[in-house]
Amino acid sequence: MTKIEHIGIAVKEIAAADKIYSKLLGVDPYKQEEVASEGVLTSFFKIGDSKIELLEATREDSPIAKFIEKKGEGIHHIAFDVEDIHAEMDRLRAEGFVLLNEQPKRGADNKLVCFIHPKSAHGVLIELCQEIKE
Ligand code: ZN
Repeated sequence: MTKIEHIGIAVKEIAAADKIYSKLLGVDPYKQEEVASEGVLTSFFKIGDSKIELLEATREDSPIAKFIEKKGEGIHHIAFDVEDIHAEMDRLRAEGFVLLNEQPKRGADNKLVCFIHPKSAHGVLIELCQEIKE
């Protein structure tokens, strides 16, 4: 793993959260993107090398809707940048981590992603992400 790629924050309404985070960070989001397979609408901010991803549920069965129902709005996951997601998945599986995806899938912001169960990481949902180079 090379760095924290972004921190994901679950929000009820991305329009409202965008305004607050624009004020907080002093920049506007650089991208808004829907990931239909996950039932989420995302919004990305960048300051220096750090990114914040806001996530709003687009369906009732979205993982974000379930998260907010259980825990309320707040930090949802920490994403780490990896150079070779398949190799990292193999390494972590061998170390006993519970991976939530058998294969990497396409996430927001031009990334291949895989999630690791929070029970494997002391209550924190971890996302691995590898930039898709085309
Ligand atoms: Zn993320």
